[in-house]
Amino acid sequence: MNEEAVTEIVERCIFCGNPASRLTWEHLWPRWSHREITRSMRKWDGFKAVERIERGSVETKGIRKIKRGGDIHDLQVHCVCGGDRKSCNNGWMKNIEDRAKPIMIPLMQGQSLRIAPDAQSVIAGWAAVKATVAEHISIGDVTTSQAERDLLRQTGLPPHHGWAVWIGHYERSAWQAYLGSNAFLYLPGPENAHLLGTSPTEYNGQASFQILKNLFIYVMRCRDLEFVERWRFDVTASRFLRKIWPPSNLSIKWPPPIMSDVDADYVASALKKRGALAVQRRLMRNS
Ligand SMILES: [Zn+2]
Repeated sequence: MNEEAVTEIVERCIFCGNPASRLTWEHLWPRWSHREITRSMRKWDGFKAVERIERGSVETKGIRKIKRGGDIHDLQVHCVCGGDRKSCNNGWMKNIEDRAKPIMIPLMQGQSLRIAPDAQSVIAGWAAVKATVAEHISIGDVTTSQAERDLLRQTGLPPHHGWAVWIGHYERSAWQAYLGSNAFLYLPGPENAHLLGTSPTEYNGQASFQILKNLFIYVMRCRDLEFVERWRFDVTASRFLRKIWPPSNLSIKWPPPIMSDVDADYVASALKKRGALAVQRRLMRNS
């Protein structure tokens, strides 16, 4: 496949600022995951939805469905530096992969187990890094800040506020999406107007998902921290999604009830369906 076609031009390492000459290709689906995945696909779908959430309504600016040749699990992004152990790709990012691999493989296989709080944080850190990297392909939008990327690099974890991660046990039938993003502009009340204009794009939040075999991962982040903290999936999605970030001290029994194609599609577009409601509640509270 033509990776250039789906990768935004990046001048420097998005995490440490190393120059373009040091950039290497980063797999969104790491090599260790490839052994678990059936590699018979010829093409893949991604989708991008861009929305503006204001005054209780969601204006969809566009939904773009993207079809590409090749196996999506080979997708690489050219935005992080490589080299020795001090580089991003072969240093701290490799450490995250090494920690995540033994935890995530059993989840990809749908094994019955309990996920301890520490293990949940490892998955959340892995997911936050991948979601941040995926912002730099053409179906993403850059909404994370340099400060957030610095924290990821230094701690391997996303911020405790303004970020949330959920996971689910997905069994695919016919749905063809493996990766998707939904950037949005959340317009808060006047007291939080300073949050606008701080983003490198016109959006200040994003929800994205990535699927590794049976493991469905959903990452939400927004400059308006309360938007994420107040976000709740409805009763249907709450049955099969488990929140792993911000951290709790509770272990999770795995697998939860199965997510079907319909469920996965529902979650992927939940922000659009529910965003208006979240904003309405907020406006009512502020008035
Ligand atoms: Zn770097």
